[in-house]
Parts: sequence; C-alpha cells; structure tokens
Amino acid sequence: PYTTLPALVAVHARERAEHPALIQDDRQVSYRALNQTVDQVAAALQRDGLKPGDSIAICASNSIAYACLFIGALRAGVVVAPLAPSSTADSLLTMIADSGAQLVFVDQAVDQAIESVKSRLHVTLLSLDDSRPQQGFSQWLCDAAPQPVELAPELPFNIIYSSGTTGEPKGIVQSHGMRWSHIQRGIAFGYGPECVTLISTPLYSNTTLVSFLPTLGLGGTLVLMAKFDAGKYLALAAEHRVTHTMLVPVQYQRIMARDDFDQYDLSSFQVKFSTSAPFHAELKADILARWPGGLVEFYGMTEGGGSCMLPAHQYPDKLGTVGKPLDGHDMRVIDEDGHELPAGEIGEVVGHSPAMMTGYLNKPEKTAEAEWFDSTGKRFIRTGDVGRFDEEGFLTLMDRRKDMIISGGFNIYPSDLEAVLRQHPALLEATVIGVQSRSWGETPVGYAVLKSDASDSADNILQWFNQQVGKTQRLNRLILTSELPRSAIGKVLKRELRDAFQAEFG
Ligand code: ATP
Ligand code: MG
Repeated sequence: PYTTLPALVAVHARERAEHPALIQDDRQVSYRALNQTVDQVAAALQRDGLKPGDSIAICASNSIAYACLFIGALRAGVVVAPLAPSSTADSLLTMIADSGAQLVFVDQAVDQAIESVKSRLHVTLLSLDDSRPQQGFSQWLCDAAPQPVELAPELPFNIIYSSGTTGEPKGIVQSHGMRWSHIQRGIAFGYGPECVTLISTPLYSNTTLVSFLPTLGLGGTLVLMAKFDAGKYLALAAEHRVTHTMLVPVQYQRIMARDDFDQYDLSSFQVKFSTSAPFHAELKADILARWPGGLVEFYGMTEGGGSCMLPAHQYPDKLGTVGKPLDGHDMRVIDEDGHELPAGEIGEVVGHSPAMMTGYLNKPEKTAEAEWFDSTGKRFIRTGDVGRFDEEGFLTLMDRRKDMIISGGFNIYPSDLEAVLRQHPALLEATVIGVQSRSWGETPVGYAVLKSDASDSADNILQWFNQQVGKTQRLNRLILTSELPRSAIGKVLKRELRDAFQAEFG
C-alpha cells in the first residue's frame, strides 16, 4: 500500500532506532537521530510560513544535513528543488525563480559563487553547513513538534532539473506517488535493513535519488561521499562492507583502472548499478570478471518516459545493449516523421511509463516538443536518443539525436567511431563530434585523451584510425587533450567541445 519516505523514516526510527541511517566521514546518524532532525526541519519550515506545495531549493554538495533537510521538507509537504552547485550563477538564478523556491539552502562553496548575484536573488539564503554565522542550519532548526501533513500521491516531491546536456535545464516534477514506486522497486534488488549503499554522485541528480530512496525508505544504511575519488571509494566500500552502489560509467572506469583494485575486499557487494551515460561492453565485462556481485544498467531519463534495464551478469552476450524495458514500460523507435519503426531499424527512442512527468515546469512548448502519441493516443516522451531494438527486444543505443553527424548525405554515428578509437592502445578515452564543413555540411572530429604512461602523436593516431574505417567515416582531425569536458554527473559535454572547436578553428 502507498506510503511515503518521511513516514517510512518514522517507522524505522521506532522499529530499529539505533540502526545507522547515514554515514559520512566519521559521522554516523541513527534512524532515531535522523527522524528527530527531520521533525526539526519540518517544524522550522512551518514556523517560516511554508505550506504544503510550497518549495525550497538546495544547492550544496552531499552531506548528512542535506539528506535531513530533504526528508524534513517532504514531511512538511514542501517540494524540494535540488540544484547543481556547479551551475553558473545565472543558471542558478533562473532555476531558483523557475522552481518558485521561497528559501534557498547553500553550503560554503556555493555561497561564494552566488555572492555576485545576491542582489538579484529575491529569496532568503540559508546555510546548510553553518558557514553563515547568523543563519546557520543548527540555529534555524525548530524544536517544536511539526504539524502532521497529509502527503497525497499526487503531491509534488521534488523538482529535478534535467542535466542540460543538450540545452537549457528543464524542471521535471516528480510526485510522492512516483517516488513510492521507486522505493518499492528497490525490494526486488535486495534493498532493505541489511543493505549498505555507497553513493558518491550528487544528490541533486535523479541517478543518485533512485538509490537514495530505496535505501532510506527500506531501512538500510546510506554511506555518502561528497566528492568522488576512486581510491577513497574502494576504501569505504571495503570498510563498510557495502552491498549496493550506484556509479556512473566514468567512475567505474576510474575505479577499474586502479593498480590496487584487487587488494580491496569487495566480497560484500550484492549489486552495483549504473546509469546516465554510455557504458561500454568492454568495461562491463571487466567489472563482471573482477568485482563480486551483480551489475545492473539502467537507461532512462529524468522525465520518466520509460526505462530499460540490463542485468549484465545474466546476459553476458548482450553487454553492448541497455537491455529491455522494465515491466509496464513501453518503448518504441520512431523515424524523423514520427512513424513507428520495426525492430532492427534505427530511429529516435520514445518511452511510456506508469511514472511519467506530466510536463516540464513552466514550459508548455518544450513539453509539446517532447511528446509523441501512438495511433491509439497513448502518450510517450521522446528521449532524444537514437537506437534500435533487436529481435529479442534488447535496445542498442547509438547517440543523442543532436550529436549525430550528417556528412555528404551520409549518417555518421559518433558512437561507431568512438568504439574504434577505444581500440587504440595509447588512448584512455575519446569522443567524436560533428563540426561545420564547407564541402560536407558536417564532418567528424575526434577528441582523445592519452593514457598517462602512453606517448603517441595525434597524426599517428589519426592515420591509424582512418585505415580502420570506411571512407565516409574518416575523421577530419584528431585533437589530443588532457581531459574531456564532463558534467558533474560524468556525461561528456559535446556541446562544449563543438563550441571550443568553433572558437579555435571555425
Ligand atoms: P537534457 O535533457 O537537459 O539535455 P539529459 O538528457 O542529460 O539532459 P537526464 O535526464 O539526466 O538529462 O539524462 C537522460 C539521458 O542520459 C538519456 O536521454 C540518455 O541520453 C543518457 N543515458 C541515460 N542512461 C543511459 C545509458 N544506460 N546508456 C547511455 N546513455 C544513457
Ligand atoms: Mg534529456
């Protein structure tokens, strides 16, 4: 039966009061303590006049206070807009205004970033880490008992801004009902009182929340890292006997690349999750071979328009795919004109799920662009990703539509060229973008990072590459760089590379 995260936390506080709920560095918080702080937050928000349906924003790195504030707001029926601290000041202003937040909680790092735009900020700023002496978090909390609030399934839970990988961030509202389905889904994956989940991705991302919610909702222990570091991750995993984790592919890559990987005892792992970005078959195979426990990849989007899942340990011959749609999720592939395509054909992936967003916040025109309806009128969300289903129903993803290259009338999939570049022994990672070309319309250009112990020239690698591929797929140029631009959640920002290329060579 339907229940909510704050209600579940109260149950755990009664039934296993001293069980650790949150761990960070040398701090540990029991369910009793968590529940108490959650009450104090809810009471403070009520004292400050916030009503159910009102919202607050949080812009800070992962911390115990962050988790308490999030759940405390929910207990008061207040909607949480978690924002990326790495956002530019202007983008923060836009998101704060768009979310309608009445209070904004920041930590020290953000507090400085926001200094320059403070005069344009028409909301109260509060500190989450006691860095602003007059408005510290602990002084703000309220000891009075909060008024109980009814949390209906349709009440908004949070507003998540999509990563903005391809454009401006768009606000996506998720309800308590949708989040309850994410908690329930965790049962099948073994989340429960015995689970210890290690999280190092930021709490403002849906990627993180889909692990955060079942861990705390089902009474487990959440170990938080504020900043990812592969060595520290491994040490924490071994120390806390971690059973569950969510990592993005670039984090897996950094962890697997460590020379000392095999020295850590990772035998406690039951299942590891990944989502957010392309996860290469070779990397999955390496993890399956060397890291105990299952490996489950999810493909989906914050909008909730359907997800695919690949339990990689069960399908060693399907590692190049993102698996099949979850139960109750319907995913299809359509062409440029919006016609549905049969299995085997390449087109844009669209998805329908029981927990779909109703629309982007304050952006009806963007919502309309993102919708697709089948012949029966069933509503789907366009993913913006290009892919194809095989005969057995497994989905292979190619690229984002906006990243595809049309060169001299040919479609070039950057993902195909990236797969070839990955074969080069001197390269750590590589990506391919399309740039303007007078003769071809667009032409592919590669950006690559050398392994730390490798030395090779861009010319050599380019020559090698162009011998591996057909004429139409040849790279126009290969540029060696020290790192690829990535979002805080580890997605390669091709948009930034295209701008950089234009500025330098365009
Ligand atoms: P924006 O829509 O603002 O450009 P975004 O699409 O990156 O940002 P999210 O909702 O965070 O925002 O990410 C969903 C996207 O992430 C998917 O559309 C897909 O491109 C990518 N993605 C998610 N999971 C996977 C996966 N398993 N493999 C490859 N790509 C994935
Ligand atoms: Mg998107």
